[in-house]
Amino acid sequence: MKVITTINELQQELEKHRVLNKKIALVPTMGYLHEGHMTLAKAARQENDLVVMSDFVNPTQFGPNEDFESYPRDLDRDEKIATEVGVDYLFAPTVDEMYPDDGGIRIEAGPASKILCGATRPGHFNGVLQVVSKLFHIVQPTNAYFGQKDAQQLALIQLMVRDYNFPVTICSVPIVREEDGLAKSSRNVFLTDAEREQAPVIQQALQQAKADFLKHHDKEQAIQIAITMIENQTSGHVDYLELRSYPNLQEIHPETNQFLLATAVYFSNVRLIDNILFSNEEIR
Ligand code: AMP
Repeated sequence: MKVITTINELQQELEKHRVLNKKIALVPTMGYLHEGHMTLAKAARQENDLVVMSDFVNPTQFGPNEDFESYPRDLDRDEKIATEVGVDYLFAPTVDEMYPDDGGIRIEAGPASKILCGATRPGHFNGVLQVVSKLFHIVQPTNAYFGQKDAQQLALIQLMVRDYNFPVTICSVPIVREEDGLAKSSRNVFLTDAEREQAPVIQQALQQAKADFLKHHDKEQAIQIAITMIENQTSGHVDYLELRSYPNLQEIHPETNQFLLATAVYFSNVRLIDNILFSNEEIR
């Protein structure tokens, strides 16, 4: 595996493969790799000739009071993990390499970026779409891999690719969890020991809400069950917990096929997200 820090070098390397018609995969990450990222890379490895993983904590998707500075970083460790899972190029640029000049042109992620995580993180998804579209142009992948862990991000990227004809196929993988059900996240290291013990309640609460919704078809009741469970059984505070259609993230209605039950929970030093995607075929 090669670690590359400049756009020029990466593009020169990839050109050698592109002329041979190789299928190139992109796996965008912010590093501090865990099994969630590894699952994406393994899927990319299986389905493509070449795997590029980006490892870049993107400043433009962090708000002024968010954790950009303290976000965990360990490139040496990432290199080992990426090598193990068969990544060919680990692209780890500096902020200056990615954003040397600023012409002020912005991507506006639209109404579906203002709800759920976007309600408390204004501008977050504009920054996500900015960096993802830059990476798409730099790497020009055949396939790009994203996790369902960040379901709203995945939905918005799918909408951008569809609406703006990006020549890339978006592939997604289900959420990878710890044994006790907590969704793997680079940010889990910020949980205190007590919070780490309580955190699996988030997933349990979503499961309870889903079961209740499938039985009674009462969205508000299902949501209230999950919020109460999280607030009673953890020291966390629910930012939002919502049931929406997927991938449009609209209010649900009787014809909704795909549901996204998603939450964000604040603990003392970290805000965690989790979700469940399910279809109306489960409704009996
Ligand atoms: P991040 O480094 O947190 O920006 O994540 C990079 C990619 O990995 C995104 O597409 C995430 O959705 C995905 N990802 C992060 N955690 C998980 C997980 N637990 N399971 C599946 N995918 C994940």
